[in-house]
Amino acid sequence: MSKQLHSFQAEVAQLLHLVTHSLYSNKEIFLRELVSNASDACDKLRFEALNDAALYEGAPELQVRVSFDKDKRTVTIADNGIGMSAQEAIDHLGTIAKSGTKDFMSRLTGDQQANATEQGQLIGQFGVGFYSGFIVADRITVESRRAGMKAEEGVRWTSGGAGDFEVENITRPERGTAVILHLRDDADEYLNAWKLKQIIGKYSDHISLPILMEKEEWKEGEKEGDPGAMVKTGEWETVNKASALWTRPKKDITEEQYQEFYKAISHDFENPLAWSHNRVEGNTEYTQLLYIPAKAPFDLYQQGKHAGVKLYVKRVFIMDDAEALLPGYLRFARGVIDSADLPLNVSRELLQESRDVRLIRDGSVKRVLSMLEDLAKHDSHEAAAEGADGVTDVVSEDDKAKEGKYSRFYAEFGAVLKEGLGEDFGNRERIARLLRFASTAGENVSFADYKARMKDGQEAIYYITADTLAAAKNSPQLEVFKKKGIEVLLMADRVDEWALGYLQDFDGTPLQSVAKGAVDLGKLQDEAEKKAFDEAAEQFKPLLAKLKEALKDKAEDVRVTTRLVDSPACLVVKDGDMSNQLARLLKQAGQ
Ligand code: ADP
Ligand code: MG
Repeated sequence: MSKQLHSFQAEVAQLLHLVTHSLYSNKEIFLRELVSNASDACDKLRFEALNDAALYEGAPELQVRVSFDKDKRTVTIADNGIGMSAQEAIDHLGTIAKSGTKDFMSRLTGDQQANATEQGQLIGQFGVGFYSGFIVADRITVESRRAGMKAEEGVRWTSGGAGDFEVENITRPERGTAVILHLRDDADEYLNAWKLKQIIGKYSDHISLPILMEKEEWKEGEKEGDPGAMVKTGEWETVNKASALWTRPKKDITEEQYQEFYKAISHDFENPLAWSHNRVEGNTEYTQLLYIPAKAPFDLYQQGKHAGVKLYVKRVFIMDDAEALLPGYLRFARGVIDSADLPLNVSRELLQESRDVRLIRDGSVKRVLSMLEDLAKHDSHEAAAEGADGVTDVVSEDDKAKEGKYSRFYAEFGAVLKEGLGEDFGNRERIARLLRFASTAGENVSFADYKARMKDGQEAIYYITADTLAAAKNSPQLEVFKKKGIEVLLMADRVDEWALGYLQDFDGTPLQSVAKGAVDLGKLQDEAEKKAFDEAAEQFKPLLAKLKEALKDKAEDVRVTTRLVDSPACLVVKDGDMSNQLARLLKQAGQ
């Protein structure tokens, strides 16, 4: 194949523009991204070689080499992983394959308001990957040969990061990929072994493969006035720990290492709110390292998007986003699960059926819920009753530092957590304890708070759902509750109606929508009120009959009510019927 010129997919061109203009404050992440690609490529080779050991071509020791050339002004990241064919280079380095990218790009570029830093954070969250090389390079050359292909079937891909890239055929005896960055004028600092080592130590220490750099030693100047310099020795040394972070004992891992590992696997810029690292032994053996992020990713509500948990089997990477490992309502959690028992060739289909996976999933759900309970317990005044099993060993800061974290979590992910009421029957009670609502008496109210404040004789937890909090707050259906000083939970999340439908009671106290049925205030009504009600019902009988006749196509019944104080009338639905709110939602959805 002679030299071919290709254009980048439109989204790539946009992304490149953003990368070079907005990620400037965080330049050094380019190395993290490229080392992580090199490591992924080695993981892929190891995985493919499970079925075809010939792919190792007699060289099974996988590694990443980072080097630099002062004269040519290049930094090179090379691996002996799976490599790319020419077509793969064109496809993978010229287009963005990930779903949702288009939406994301239009959001980024459409919003003129977002400043460069915000865009940088958004992009970082999304993970720019390979293209981050262009933050420091004005030209990138990639030379590669796919494992198992002939030396003559190598490829050279090169681009200046504007609209297009060139691809040509080369001969490359060694398997794998070298990414050569031709540095921009202002990126001199990376032509320095100490600097590169420092960045690798910060971002890539957890990578389980050895990352090698050429050793340097000091050479005295030979002539008078020559101060001497560091020179390369031709000998390579490993500069990272080269053991997967989660396999190390907890006591050997610093807080910062846990945080950097999180950022590396999640592409988040912010530190996580909490994490939990455990080795589980018993019916099935596995290690879990799970994180609660502080910020929702842009695709949290994207269809088919599942938990960001990576599955490893005996330290071999198997797959990303293994949805069998965590249910949808915990899809915000990030982390790694490394099983000692699953077969290495486990497929997605097999995962669904495996007993080991079921045990891992149950264990992971418990772990995430206990982390949340722990955060909730320390959020503020929380009753100590929270936190069912009480044995969280979140390896994060002291209790004080946990303050306010649950509210942050809840603001980002509360609506997702609620889905659990419908999705996870077995943990419904635990999930319900974790929910927080606005109410007529305050913010951040849990069912437990509510129960503790219930009036003497009150027999139900009252709530109202509406499109907005303001609408809920001003609903005429609340009048009698306000008058009697009875707290009502105000719900305005889209999922509330659906989710609450799965919760008949909390801790033995029934939940009652104030918009449904006759709202029997039971013992809360005094005798005089009951009498007045009965008289009114009697007195207005003829009027009600007339109204009922006039409204017969629109209303099923018309009756005297005690729920109103100031308003003359309101609409309610029958107990067990869809509420007005849900009916409206379904109508919007075209049902
Ligand atoms: P991601 O790593 O999230 O898939 P990147 O932009 O970092 O996205 O990389 C894009 C794709 O380019 C990778 O998915 C992979 O197919 C290919 N690629 C990048 N670097 C390498 C490499 N060192 N070896 C083999 N393939 C690579
Ligand atoms: Mg990548």
